[in-house]
Amino acid sequence: PETVKTNFIHQEIDKDLAENKNGGAVLTRFPPEPNGYLHIGHAKSICLNFSLAQKYGGGCNLRFDDTNPVKEDVEYVDSIQEDVKWLGFNWEGEVKFASDYFDQLYEWAVKLIKNGKAYVDDQSAEKIAAQKGTPTEPGTESPFRNRSVEENLDLFERMKKGEFAAGEKVLRAKIDMASSNMHMRDPLMYRIIHQSHHRIGDKWCIYPMYDFAHGQEDFIEGITHSICTLEFEVHRPLYNWFLDQILDGEPVPERRTRQIEFARLNLNYTVMSKRKLLELVQKGIVAGWDDPRMPTVSGLRRRGYTPESIRNFADKVGVARRDGVIDVALLESCIREDLNKKASRVNAVVDPVKLIITNYPEGQVEMVDVINNPEDESKGSRQLPFSREVYIERDDFMEDAPKKFFRLGPGREVRLKGAYAVTCTDFKKNAETGEIEGIYCTYDPETKSGATTVTRKIKGILHWVSVEHAVDAEVRMYDRLYNHEAPSSQKDADHLDFINPDSLKIVTAKVEPSLKDAKPLDQFQFQRVGYFCVDKDSTSDKLIFNRTVALKDSWSK
Ligand code: ATP
Ligand code: MG
Ligand code: MG
Repeated sequence: PETVKTNFIHQEIDKDLAENKNGGAVLTRFPPEPNGYLHIGHAKSICLNFSLAQKYGGGCNLRFDDTNPVKEDVEYVDSIQEDVKWLGFNWEGEVKFASDYFDQLYEWAVKLIKNGKAYVDDQSAEKIAAQKGTPTEPGTESPFRNRSVEENLDLFERMKKGEFAAGEKVLRAKIDMASSNMHMRDPLMYRIIHQSHHRIGDKWCIYPMYDFAHGQEDFIEGITHSICTLEFEVHRPLYNWFLDQILDGEPVPERRTRQIEFARLNLNYTVMSKRKLLELVQKGIVAGWDDPRMPTVSGLRRRGYTPESIRNFADKVGVARRDGVIDVALLESCIREDLNKKASRVNAVVDPVKLIITNYPEGQVEMVDVINNPEDESKGSRQLPFSREVYIERDDFMEDAPKKFFRLGPGREVRLKGAYAVTCTDFKKNAETGEIEGIYCTYDPETKSGATTVTRKIKGILHWVSVEHAVDAEVRMYDRLYNHEAPSSQKDADHLDFINPDSLKIVTAKVEPSLKDAKPLDQFQFQRVGYFCVDKDSTSDKLIFNRTVALKDSWSK
């Protein structure tokens, strides 16, 4: 497989190993909340966590952080597992769920209450927020902060039993309302949510907050390095504080998890917030989570991205300690690079016009041999039918062509790739529309590819498909979904204001007959046009291709 660039997380882990921390073990985790489909940002985190496991001979857990039943669903649990596997990774043991740890978390919360480190607050969320203070001014202590341990234990148990409505009570950690770190100002530990959970039903009506859940989940699983994005750096003291509290009075454990932060992936021309992605789906702006224009893993897959190209992208992006924006052109270049090696070259004409070879015998069909991939000899060659009438691309012909136009025009000679050289003798134009309706040529029988002795220079080489043998295919020409570099960070504007109206154009192409057998997700280079893959809805009766990426970066022209 690919070699992974070394990064600062490796250095941190190397230090831990040198000090023989955690008995030399390395166990990471990927902890998605099942409230949406995975996107390319998650893919980056997946590649990072699993490659750490590979590098150090450890493991990586897949854990669903299912602590908020309101937004979560099994549909997401299933798609996430599919996507992680597709990216090429195997998690350690069984899939883990935070909801499996709720009993243990509850016990630890009780321990904190007993140790005077947590209390039940009757105030509303708004009230509590208003008392938080500012970074420069201390917050105000809650009037409920000094409840007795007995009262707190009783109230917390009654919260669990469902005696209170949502918002009536919360459990808070008792830390320091004057801390310079806002997250240490008596953060919430539990809230009341009366809603069925997708996995454990109505067993619980109190749910732990991220901060009280995450570090403890890591600890339960024996995670050694808990890798997360930079916005959690300010949570790290709290992450450690909660671990100190649950370990208070316990023997020193064999492993203790440690949080390390890295910069999240941001891509230009892309949104990555699950809320916004959901909005695109719900408003019908895209055809679903796996629409080929979505930055989701399932969308990229349907678009024709390979797992290798995404892993390679993640590695090229690297692991940084400061936020930045990556050019989406880098992602596109990764798939181009991969498909250049893998994709069979085929002939497909996306905007066809007929070319008639007047001196080629009517009814004659000749099979010409063409190689499948010049980058990979082992892919061999195939036979392509050639006949008197072929389709070529409309823009490969110009009536008044400039000198440097190495394609077809009156009196010009080009090679039909893999077949013969043809010279344009005439053309037919629609009098009303001005559209070219037919191009007439003669061919030189002495110029057959592979067998020619003709030495004159023929610069232009065109792809073509025999009219008689051509198969119709729906081709979906996808382009970027947004026409603004930073669609989600514009003042007074919504990301929906920057939807590219030309992000999808559907055309009917004429493709070579071998493509009739193509299967969903098969990938091809339509010669001189771009890389395409067979859509999941394609059948041999109705072929559908998605454009993965153009051959060359055409965006910035
Ligand atoms: P959102 O805020 O849109 O809901 P999230 O980050 O909360 O996204 P999670 O399901 O909690 O989504 O993410 C799972 C893991 O993926 C986390 O460890 C998170 O740090 C990581 N992750 C999410 N987005 C990115 C990103 N853009 N770049 C790198 N890692 C990411
Ligand atoms: Mg989230
Ligand atoms: Mg998150």
